[in-house]
Amino acid sequence: MQASYGYIDGTGEYFISIDTDLCDGCEKCVPICPEGVFAVAPDDYGKRVAIVKEDLVDRISYVCPGPKGCGANQDIICQTVCSKTAISHTW
Ligand code: SF4
Ligand code: SF4
Repeated sequence: MQASYGYIDGTGEYFISIDTDLCDGCEKCVPICPEGVFAVAPDDYGKRVAIVKEDLVDRISYVCPGPKGCGANQDIICQTVCSKTAISHTW
């Protein structure tokens, strides 16, 4: 299942998606994100998966510069640390 967190506004479409079938809850994305976007928590079926923190969802485009912008500042970002390729961004 794709769990998508974000919104569309006048400037674009800003969603971070976690493929909860691929995610194994390894937590590697949690410390690598400089903005603290991710946490790991049980889903509806009790499987531990990555989530976007609830208080960041409605301002995610202000918190996260997107993979390209983030990758300009650090070598390893959420998408590259995730060996399951479970994380995607729309921007
Ligand atoms: S790094 Fe990937 S597999 Fe690990 S918790 Fe994060 S999204 Fe899931
Ligand atoms: S792109 Fe960077 S700031 Fe955005 S969620 Fe991934 S690690 Fe965090």
